[in-house]
Amino acid sequence: MPVDKQPLDASRCSADRPGSLPFHPVDLCQPDTMKSCAACCGLYNWQDHSRTAITGIVSMQTDLFSALDSYDNLDEYRLRRDQRINNTKLFETIYNCEFVGFVDRERRRVGCLLHPSVTGIPALRNHCFYGAKICHEHFCPGYGCLTTPEQLAVVSAVQDWYLFGLVITDIDLVKEFFRHVENALGESIKPARLSQPELRHILHDFFSLKEHWQFKAAENRLGKYYFSASEYAIARIDYCARWGVPESRFDKILVSLESEFSSYEQVLSAEEMLQEKIHAFIRAYSAAH
Ligand code: SF4
Ligand code: SF4
Repeated sequence: MPVDKQPLDASRCSADRPGSLPFHPVDLCQPDTMKSCAACCGLYNWQDHSRTAITGIVSMQTDLFSALDSYDNLDEYRLRRDQRINNTKLFETIYNCEFVGFVDRERRRVGCLLHPSVTGIPALRNHCFYGAKICHEHFCPGYGCLTTPEQLAVVSAVQDWYLFGLVITDIDLVKEFFRHVENALGESIKPARLSQPELRHILHDFFSLKEHWQFKAAENRLGKYYFSASEYAIARIDYCARWGVPESRFDKILVSLESEFSSYEQVLSAEEMLQEKIHAFIRAYSAAH
């Protein structure tokens, strides 16, 4: 008997996970109605992982899935989806789930098209490579490694799914920004102040570097990782060998931004840009005190 499909309109995808909120007070997967994340489902694991390319894939998958008569046709869905993909995987060993789609009518939130809050059928996620149990229980390092103020900073500053997923999964980028700011301030950032529009604007400006970084390497990477000999490795910057200088104080940020420099002058220029953004945040934060 065919299983009737539900219209796409998931509410909160991680809130139904038993015990998730006491341990993880900030829902990073589906934080609000403006954005969400699906990075661990392989959202960005494409050679072309530009906003345009990823939006095209997610839209195509959503349209195909929406056109299904019933959940009995998932094999047919997979076949049609594979025929329409015009991109190649970035890291072969990472799974790009075919069931990532937009889960709200406004198409502001990416998520799981098979999620029980969409389908009402938890076992449907066994059609995916990971299976329902792993999909249900997975929490990425953003939950465990970022502090609550760091998580809230990203949630309050970034209001679109494409940038949000890139940033919330980039632990080094977020933690290093906080480390530089808090060292200069001599105190921890107070989350209540992060709702101030100017601070949100400055944070967004900094996080946007993930998408628009002047020194981004020509080679396709995903954050600090690149693909080599069937493995992914960290693309480090060898300051000493190339320019005879010590490691940049912003090294982790520069690596997270997929930087590639042709001269030491470029390194200095990049450092100046980062320092200016960090100073802008410190000035606005101190003025708001
Ligand atoms: S990468 Fe983290 S925040 Fe994003 S969907 Fe997966 S578990 Fe949620
Ligand atoms: S089935 Fe699992 S891997 Fe696929 S989109 Fe849903 S949660 Fe992600």
